[in-house]
Amino acid sequence: AAMVKETIRVYARVKPLGRRQQAGIYSVDDDDEKSLSSLEIIVPRDLADGFVNNKRESYKFRFQKIFDQGAKQDVVFDSIAKPVAECVLSGYNGTIFAYGQTGSGKTFTITGGAERYSDRGIIPRTLSYIFDQLQKDSSKVYTTHVSYLEIYNECGYDLLDPRHEASRLEDLPKVTVMEDPEQNIHLKNLSLQQATNEEEALNLLFLGDTNRMIAETPMNQASTRSHCIFTIHISSKEPGSATIRHSKLHLVDLAGSERVAKTGVGGHLLTEAKYINLSLHYLEQVIIALAEKNRSHIPYRNSMMTSVLRDSLGGNCMTTMIATISVDKRNIDESISTCRFAQRVALIKNEAVLNEEIDPRLMIVQLKKEIQELKDELALVTGKQRTSELSQEELLQLGELIETFLEDNDPDSTLDIEADMRKIKYCFTHMKHLMNRSKISDKKLLSQCNSEENDTIKEAEEELKTLKELLQQRDNEINILVNMLKKEKKKAQDALFQFNAASAGSTLLEQSLSINSEERNSPSSCFSLKEAKDFKSSVHRLPFLSRQTGGKISLGCQEAFEIYKRDHADSITIEDNKQLLKQRFAEAKCLGEKLNEVRNKINHLKGVITQRHIQRAALAVSSPSEELNALDPVEEELRKQIEAEKKSYKTMFNRLKVLKVEIEHLQLLMEKVKVKLQKDFEIWWSEEAANLQQEEPEMVSSPNTATACPEFIKSSQHLSTNSFSETTRVSPSEDPPGKINSVTSRNSTSKTRTLPSSSTSLPLTGDSQADADILAFFKARQNILQKKGKSCQ
Ligand code: ADP
Ligand code: MG
Repeated sequence: AAMVKETIRVYARVKPLGRRQQAGIYSVDDDDEKSLSSLEIIVPRDLADGFVNNKRESYKFRFQKIFDQGAKQDVVFDSIAKPVAECVLSGYNGTIFAYGQTGSGKTFTITGGAERYSDRGIIPRTLSYIFDQLQKDSSKVYTTHVSYLEIYNECGYDLLDPRHEASRLEDLPKVTVMEDPEQNIHLKNLSLQQATNEEEALNLLFLGDTNRMIAETPMNQASTRSHCIFTIHISSKEPGSATIRHSKLHLVDLAGSERVAKTGVGGHLLTEAKYINLSLHYLEQVIIALAEKNRSHIPYRNSMMTSVLRDSLGGNCMTTMIATISVDKRNIDESISTCRFAQRVALIKNEAVLNEEIDPRLMIVQLKKEIQELKDELALVTGKQRTSELSQEELLQLGELIETFLEDNDPDSTLDIEADMRKIKYCFTHMKHLMNRSKISDKKLLSQCNSEENDTIKEAEEELKTLKELLQQRDNEINILVNMLKKEKKKAQDALFQFNAASAGSTLLEQSLSINSEERNSPSSCFSLKEAKDFKSSVHRLPFLSRQTGGKISLGCQEAFEIYKRDHADSITIEDNKQLLKQRFAEAKCLGEKLNEVRNKINHLKGVITQRHIQRAALAVSSPSEELNALDPVEEELRKQIEAEKKSYKTMFNRLKVLKVEIEHLQLLMEKVKVKLQKDFEIWWSEEAANLQQEEPEMVSSPNTATACPEFIKSSQHLSTNSFSETTRVSPSEDPPGKINSVTSRNSTSKTRTLPSSSTSLPLTGDSQADADILAFFKARQNILQKKGKSCQ
């Protein structure tokens, strides 16, 4: 089985009593049936020093086997170490550790006594045994190494470090514990010394022990307070096999387990006693944790020793513990303590696995061998010896086969090759090669055919590039212009509003005059509704452009005119006239109202007189008298009133007549200004359009422009027929030209001329067609300027 599940085997060894030592009461009971032994320790009720012991008298502990005082080293080895060594030889990890108070025989058991050869301990005996076994076993190739680690005060020292003799313990590099991602423990600075035979290995053990002795001083008491771990590393493999087995055998001589009891003398309160050695305290904690069920965390990392023995305790290892006991009367408590510890350790289950790994180098060798074997087999079956490569002759044959196959138009034709993978593979590779070659030649052919076209394509590409750049440039300009125009639009709207405010007066006048239908129809009436309406409409009409485009003038052009008008009209005169007109309109309105009143009054008086006539006529019929024929004084009075009203009516009417003339005159004046402006605008507009046609006909013919502003092109074509002497006419500028320079200067070629200021204030109408017209116009314009700039350079 590749895995062995086993609890830690725990043995006890009782040290022979010294000459002056007084034995405590204990008994060893061997139960051969259960292959278990028990050790009973009796604690007397009454102790010599007078303290009364209320505890149990008898303590019974179970062990795998108990080695009493007379047990010899060879027996101990055979029972305890040999089985472990066997396991290690077969590839499992093993650990044997001795636990007990100082002087209980740990070192004697693990290493042995120094005096007699028969006192050799587990380490030399194991080494002897292992090398014996290795020599005997010729089926495997073995490699053996040893290491010797001492842990003192949580520091690790390499007892086999050759510098030991020259340096003090403290000056040597410390051995440290490293953990790899798989949580395997590695010891840094611990040397692995190869030992090819027993003698070499024993020499290394002797070297380590000597080093330990030299390092020991009365101050550090290394032998009692330090732990020593002698490790035999064995790797093995069967010849020809790629599998390598690794195993380790730790032989551990722990520090003295003696504790300091809190109560001091007598030391009966064992549970409260503390270890002198801290790492043994941690070892106990690990063992308690491992003995508990469902304990997930084991505090291995707390000390170096538990880290090093991690696999030995609850891991991949066959572990054995030897509890060394000194049954001297004074050491009864410590003995019980050691036994208790041993009982806990006995509960720990380990899972030892066979440490096998595959050696890649060996694997390759193995596979190569297998390939050769298969080749030989194949040669035997086919009767042909196959080398890894096809011969030149074979290759040529295959080439011919492929050629015939490719040229054969018969759809049923096949390419017949032997069941030889090398040939099949060659055919595919060769066909791939042929395909790629034909692809390349196709490309070459194609590129040759296209070489003549290439020049024109190149030219076209360059032109396209230039045009694209130009387009980008113009787009940028337009964006800037649009933003400027938008701002100006608001200004322009305000201006237009003020301008129209004056025209609003005519509406009032119209209202005031339309009240009396009689007056309106009378020839004396100065104002007719028709006239007023005509006047009003003429304000917003562009007769010239309407004429040119058959009345269908684009909104963009209209807007352009509005701005042109605002920027170029004699605003002061117009404003004065506007104010005057406004005043006159107000006056006229007021007069009109008064006239209305007077008219109503007269009408009322007329009505009164008529009624009086009727009354008098009726009276004359009923009671005719002279009186009735006489003049009616009331009527006379009424007539006088009417006369007076008529007089004032006439005066007011005359005044209104004068006002009308004045208003008419003012309106004519303004109309004149407008006509002049319209004419100026027409000239400017057509001149620009003419320039556009002359200098950049492609702008007109370009489908882009045509779709953007068909109206504009239509009108510009008309306009271009008009001849104007001036080719460039700079409109009077109100704004400093620098304003527009910021736009045009972006285009380095258009420094020669700036746009008329009117262009800076062109608003967008919100009407997409009109906006397109405006933009197209100024785009074209900008284009012209740019062209001019280019031709100047
Ligand atoms: P520890 O290592 O536990 O402190 P040692 O192994 O040094 O104890 O033993 C203390 C003394 O007792 C040593 O002189 C050792 O030779 C002797 N001794 C221990 N066990 C035995 C034994 N089984 N037979 C003979 N002598 C022993
Ligand atoms: Mg010792």
